[in-house]
Amino acid sequence: MEPHRPGKVRTRFAPSPTGDLHLGNAHTALFAWLFARHHGGVFLVRFEDTDVERLVPGAEGAVLADLRWLGLDWDEGPDVGGPFGPYRQSERGRLYEQAAAQLKEGGYAYDCFCTPEELAERRAAALARGAPPRYDGRCRGLSPSEAARRRDELAAAGLRPALRFRLPDEDREVVVHDLVHGATVFHTRDLDDFLLLRPDRTPLYNFAATVDDWKMAITHVIRAEEHLTNTPRQILLFEALGADVPTFAHLPMLLGPGRRKLSKREQATALRRYREEGYLPEALLNYLALLGWSDPAGREFFSKSELIEVFALERVSKAAAVFDRERLDWMNREYLRRLSPSELWRRLQPFLDWPEGISSKRSAETERLRRAVEVLREGVPTLSALAVALSPYRGGSRLEMGREAARLLDGEHVPTLLARSAALLKPVPEEEWRSERLGEILHRLPSELGLGPAKVFRPLRAALTGQASGPELPVVMWLLGKELTLARLGAYNQAIGEDRAE
Ligand code: GLU
Repeated sequence: MEPHRPGKVRTRFAPSPTGDLHLGNAHTALFAWLFARHHGGVFLVRFEDTDVERLVPGAEGAVLADLRWLGLDWDEGPDVGGPFGPYRQSERGRLYEQAAAQLKEGGYAYDCFCTPEELAERRAAALARGAPPRYDGRCRGLSPSEAARRRDELAAAGLRPALRFRLPDEDREVVVHDLVHGATVFHTRDLDDFLLLRPDRTPLYNFAATVDDWKMAITHVIRAEEHLTNTPRQILLFEALGADVPTFAHLPMLLGPGRRKLSKREQATALRRYREEGYLPEALLNYLALLGWSDPAGREFFSKSELIEVFALERVSKAAAVFDRERLDWMNREYLRRLSPSELWRRLQPFLDWPEGISSKRSAETERLRRAVEVLREGVPTLSALAVALSPYRGGSRLEMGREAARLLDGEHVPTLLARSAALLKPVPEEEWRSERLGEILHRLPSELGLGPAKVFRPLRAALTGQASGPELPVVMWLLGKELTLARLGAYNQAIGEDRAE
């Protein structure tokens, strides 16, 4: 393994602003950030935005907001600036032109006049022959005078040539010393003279990333495994530019269920979805850290500062890691469980998008809701699930009825059941309105009405909560309080009566 170079560690996260921040990218950002923070180094963000066709307006802001929500921070970046800016590739054109000129001068790059149509045709022909579709080097050997003539020809039409890297004439090995994969050997005979600049002078990924990593003095390139095969090209470029080659670490892939690629169609891949569903950022961060990395002591729960302290790339595995939603749910539940009642209540607020809102004053309603939260928190994986479970405990006798609950209230026996229950509960004094007492009364109902327990308790729950599942019924009634319980039993009796009368 390569020793870390002396000097300050500098890592970067280089997303393309082409949409929501993907879980895999968040994972990459987290590992690069942890490494920088562990070494007291710099973590920076730069946007790779030269592929204009794939850009999505607003994506930059959304990516930064997602990173911030997850709990990451950066020392340099498009929003905060820094000494190595600009931090957007679209604003670094001058640097790429300078590097291009330097490469051309050194004989490491040449102009290419092949048109996209010619390239596509040759590519198709190569594939048809069963040959790899590599650039055939057609413009590599053009004489300087011929190249100049073609350049003038293009210039007359207001156009410019593309620029290609010139691979060494003789085959040579390029070894990637990777902190995760060890030494990985590539051969230049398996590469082709790759493009550096398009005819419109926008840079291609390998070129722009290398120039940026060089000019931004990046010491450790920590990124997704899919870029390992790009790395020999980048190393050749670093060498041709006379730049220090950084240390590389390619992180294991994240897979979905069945060890298939995480796909948008099969599961939520955007970090934003997890935020919206009410996962706690500290739980998601903890969970992502455990994908492909493990603690030598086998611990699973870490605060951010604990992670920074123990994180090391040596403990990152080569094997792909499986993103398992159930395990994330388990971890999120644990984090929810650890929140104090007032902290949980605070975190829940953005999820209570009830039209009438709830007052922040300690009204009877908030008292009831806060008590309900303490009961319901045990059964839910996320804040949004908690908000749904909580909605029946708002005031008002009218409820939002779920489809299954509505079906449960459809039975012939339901009006009598509700009326009878109300009659039995009414005499219970307010001060005795507690779940044990209520449980005793409910317990007698099936035999009194000559009905099976399911026919009694399921419609009752539906009438009281609009939901088909939840805590024990006596607990539900206790949480609702006497007034609301009776109001709801009455309201449904009435509503059912009206329906029947129509
Ligand atoms: N824009 C590239 C990506 O999002 C960055 C690759 C790199 O880190 O070099 O995959």
